[in-house]
Amino acid sequence: MKNSSQLIATRRPNWHLAHGRVALSGPVVLFDLDGVLADAGHRQHFLHLAEPNWEGFYGGVSADAPLQNGLALLDAIRPDLPVVILTARIDDIAQTTIEWLKQHGVRWDMLVCRPPADSDESTMAVDYKRLEVRALLDAGITPVLAIDDNRKIVAMYEEFGIVGAYVPSGYYDNSARYDGGV
Ligand SMILES: [Mg+2]
Repeated sequence: MKNSSQLIATRRPNWHLAHGRVALSGPVVLFDLDGVLADAGHRQHFLHLAEPNWEGFYGGVSADAPLQNGLALLDAIRPDLPVVILTARIDDIAQTTIEWLKQHGVRWDMLVCRPPADSDESTMAVDYKRLEVRALLDAGITPVLAIDDNRKIVAMYEEFGIVGAYVPSGYYDNSARYDGGV
């Protein structure tokens, strides 16, 4: 019989379990995607406009090269620890993202994108991720380590007592935006 945490884990529309997985619970590692596993450098210019061009930004995700440093880090994670990819990408491109992960042989167990009703304009990436961490914990999914290229998000993980590891992408260094990207 499924326990309640498994039921919660499978019913959130923006939580995408990897093929063959029916549930997820217990310790996991969280990985950000853009700037950690995916090289979104060629799309950052779409955000550095008076009005960010989100269509342009998200339209280019399939062309991202994998980031070898991030993949090396992921490969170093204990193989029995599931990997949850927690990205601020919109849920509309979840399937495109899943195809990218498959194409580049990235190990993952669950992908979490922004819920369909949410947007970068309404919720800062750090606040969206904080809500998702609470939901993960409520569902019995307990991150033991979290990797991100946004220092504010790394600090947010520490609010929960989760060890946050910062990977520099450079996307935030010259950005006038509050968080520079996703
Ligand atoms: Mg990022």
